[in-house]
This record gives sequence, C-alpha cells and structure tokens, in this order.
Amino acid sequence: MAQRDPDCLFCKIVAGEVPAEIVREGERTIAFRDINPQAPTHVLVIPRQHVPDVGSAARVGGGLVDAIAAEAAEVAAAEGIGDAFRLVFNTGSGAGQTVFHVHAHVLGGRGMEWPPG
Ligand code: C5P
Repeated sequence: MAQRDPDCLFCKIVAGEVPAEIVREGERTIAFRDINPQAPTHVLVIPRQHVPDVGSAARVGGGLVDAIAAEAAEVAAAEGIGDAFRLVFNTGSGAGQTVFHVHAHVLGGRGMEWPPG
C-alpha cells in the first residue's frame, strides 16, 4: 500500500499541508486535537502511513495497530485521563467514519454512556 494518498486529508496533516493542533509526534504516528471535539479531551491518533481503516492497519502488520493503541494510551496519560478514556475506531461510513485514513479517537474528561450513540 502506498505510504501516502494525495487526496487524503489526514495525509496532508501528516505532511504539514493542512494545519492541525498537534499534541504528540512519534516515528510512526502523530496525534492532534479533533477540530470538532466531542469531549473535553478529544485527540486523534493516526499513523503517518496511509491506511484506510483499522482492519487494514492490522493486515499491514508490523505492529501498526499496537503503535496506534500505545500512542493513544500515552496521549490519554499526558492529558490527565489515563485512568478513564474511550478509544474509538469508527470503521465504515455506516458507523460514522468520514475520513478514510485510520484514526483512533481518544475521548475523555466527561462521563461516558454505554451503549454509545
Ligand atoms: O471517525 P470519523 O472519520 O468520523 O472522524 C473524523 C474526525 O476528524 C472527526 O471527528 C472530525 O472532527 C475530525 N477532523 C479534524 N480535522 C480536520 C477534519 C476532520 O479533526 N481537518
């Protein structure tokens, strides 16, 4: 799979071509604040590599999903919500995925309901 999709919004954020409030940068991932936050803390963790969804990320292998999850936990800890956060991968448009570059939503800082909407 290509490392970058020229039409992908999140690839443009990785490249610095679209602005984002980046909170952490790693070798394989970056984390930035969601532009439309759904909780007091709402950060997206994405791989630098273009992969459309979490299943594809698992199939790419090399521990890419592990890297995203580990980074999400680091973000939560750094944001002071390490003991109570929600990690969400919307997968498919029917489940609310709107950007087809895999991203983990790290949400916290308020009560969370179950089941989610
Ligand atoms: O899971 P889903 O694909 O819907 O999530 C995409 C997320 O990307 C949305 O929460 C949206 O607010 C966020 N976004 C962003 N910065 C952009 C465009 C979208 O944080 N420039």
